[in-house]
Amino acid sequence: MAKIHNLGFPRIGKKRELKYLLEDFWNDQISQSALTEKTSALWHENLAAQANLDCVPVGDFSLYDHVLDTSFMVGNVPSRFKRNTNDSLLQYFTAARGTAQQGDCGCAHAAEMTKWFDTNYHYIVPEIDASTSFSLNAAPLLKAVKAARCQGHDVKPVILGPVTYLWLSRTVDNTEPLDYLRDLLPVYKALLDALSGLGVEWVQIDEPALTNTLPVAWQLGYQFAYEYLKREDINTLLTTYFGSLKDNFDMVAGLPVAGFHLDVTRGTDEADQLANQLRASQVLSVGVIDGRNVWKAPLDQIFQWLSPLNEKLGNRLWLAPSCSLLHVPVDVQSETRLPAVIKDKLAFATQKLDELVLLKKALTNQDASLPGNDRAVRFARQPAVSANNILLNGQDATLLTRATSFTRRYELQQAALNLPVLPTTTIGSFPQTAEIRQARLRYKRGQLPAPDYEAFIKKQIAHCIKTQEALGLDVLVHGEAERNDMVEYFGEKLTGVAVTSFGWVQSYGSRCVKPPLIHDDVKRHAPLTTSWIAHAQSLTDKPVKGMLTGPVTILNWSFVRDDLARADVAQQIGFAIREEVQELEAQGTKIIQVDEAALREGLPLRQEETETYLTWAVNAFKLCTSGVKPATQIHTHMCYSEFSDIRDAIINMDADVITIEAARSQHTILALFSGQGYPNAIGPGVYDIHSPVCPTQQALRELTEYLTDNFDISRLWINPDCGLKTRTWPQVTAALQAMVDATKHARERLSGRQKNSA
Ligand code: GLN
Ligand code: ZN
Repeated sequence: MAKIHNLGFPRIGKKRELKYLLEDFWNDQISQSALTEKTSALWHENLAAQANLDCVPVGDFSLYDHVLDTSFMVGNVPSRFKRNTNDSLLQYFTAARGTAQQGDCGCAHAAEMTKWFDTNYHYIVPEIDASTSFSLNAAPLLKAVKAARCQGHDVKPVILGPVTYLWLSRTVDNTEPLDYLRDLLPVYKALLDALSGLGVEWVQIDEPALTNTLPVAWQLGYQFAYEYLKREDINTLLTTYFGSLKDNFDMVAGLPVAGFHLDVTRGTDEADQLANQLRASQVLSVGVIDGRNVWKAPLDQIFQWLSPLNEKLGNRLWLAPSCSLLHVPVDVQSETRLPAVIKDKLAFATQKLDELVLLKKALTNQDASLPGNDRAVRFARQPAVSANNILLNGQDATLLTRATSFTRRYELQQAALNLPVLPTTTIGSFPQTAEIRQARLRYKRGQLPAPDYEAFIKKQIAHCIKTQEALGLDVLVHGEAERNDMVEYFGEKLTGVAVTSFGWVQSYGSRCVKPPLIHDDVKRHAPLTTSWIAHAQSLTDKPVKGMLTGPVTILNWSFVRDDLARADVAQQIGFAIREEVQELEAQGTKIIQVDEAALREGLPLRQEETETYLTWAVNAFKLCTSGVKPATQIHTHMCYSEFSDIRDAIINMDADVITIEAARSQHTILALFSGQGYPNAIGPGVYDIHSPVCPTQQALRELTEYLTDNFDISRLWINPDCGLKTRTWPQVTAALQAMVDATKHARERLSGRQKNSA
């Protein structure tokens, strides 16, 4: 009889309990023992929600991040986190968040954080260097195993595998992460000893790096590692997810482990093949329920595929979600305001486990009467791109290309806008104060009538415009006070997109996001932003930018229907945003910014898939922005600095002006974009908005000088490196004043230089 299990459960709780507990602890509202006690209760609730499974995962719960947990488990804790305390929990939070006043002696900057494969979850990057030595601290995991058993659960510890751990690490000297494998493996061996000592039968070892394109050295690393960890006393389930194994398949199939878990939601061929190759005692776990999406599974189709496998493998067939359920919200039952037609299509973590139970019952009773799913797409097949997808087949090039060249456009634009050299601007949002959040909440709850809410937002816009005029900025923004979130706001306004009340998923630590659900064809049935922008422009003679979120970012930060290719959904959103762009232009908006903050995030894990992705992603942006007159200036913004692998795509977007995050990485940006590196105009962020500390006049002057020395000044803009919504008004005005002053200084310097050379 097939066995059902889970790879990991969301940690945050149905109503983000973990977030509130952590924040209370960080703000000294609750003691450490209260934190421990209450988070443990939350974890027990999570276990209870999985009680219908044959075994529950243990070790998936985390107070911040499972990669950081692993670093602590293998004793890889850089000394700067241990400087002020012997308490491992405080060291742990220091690594995650840094200590308050950076730069002071004794204080530590947080470890770097980056995206977990192609998800929107962020992990804490392990740091390694020649001085790193590993040692085992298994106590927390062993304690959890015992505690879960006490509740009567059959447990399966989950650990992050050694090779993926190194794959995700960064060395801070010139050494190679893989070179540390020999040192790391004995720690894993000792961990398996300890688990075996507790009588643990199965351990799940997560190795998602196996679905990436791996250099040969890493493939060899896998063989070495699992040969080294091979043993009889405890069963290892080598667990891969986020895609197929492709060219790693043969290597993986030959590893001496007790079982494999494969993600079959994107293809079943490898599982079928592996089932034929399994050694007599090996187990095959198939991830049949999509752990990356929120739609009900087509259980009838899954059953059809599973039946023969079940016959062949019997109790050596295990069923699971494709990956940890970390990436989906906890429970659909919390949604009381969603229309039934949408709610009926949904399965969050709790419902996904119910689906496993149903499947197991059906397999056991040979009863195929399972709920289906009326969507056109077949289980484990990618929906094909529609034949008339403009983004991919290149037809209708006029929809995707601006008629005039950048050089000519930019001349017309700068003349029409009458801007000084080194124009100053901001990225869009201004502080989201408690007052703003309060008003929005009251409006949503029906306590604040729509006209009053509108009047309130207009007052915020007026304040924002007045402040920017006083600061002497050149291109103004309305401040985005009406937006809770740059994607959710558009989700609320577009047809075919729904927003949930509690559909939170963890982004990092205590931070959660609530992705909208793209459940149907996306259309724009009413203006999205025009009235706010018109109001802002009516208050000033300076140009006000129209501010939109781009189609790729909306797509990448949403849960997307799985019966249509992503490129097709991107195209639908592209047309909707294009309409808005054109309506903004028609009402007289001269600059329109289309943010693509998440374009890079959508990059596939497989190199062979990136080109197609970048083609449709870039074209979706161009679809929005190519319908305007030459004199209308298109801006875009991206908040990251790793552009080396997508520079050509950025150039192809052909935005007139791009503002980017650069305050922490001037040199990389310079290397890629200065001189002939980037043909259009660019605003490398001159200060880091993530820091509450005001940039000094001196630092800003030096940076501006550096930029004017290295970039073509006729195409250079001056701006912060991201939106200002997380800062306070005093922080924002001080920093922007310093930025404007430094720009004035730079202009004087440049005009002096011109006079001298004349
Ligand atoms: N316009 C948005 C803002 O300023 C951009 C945010 C982002 O890049 N994440 O808030
Ligand atoms: Zn940004």
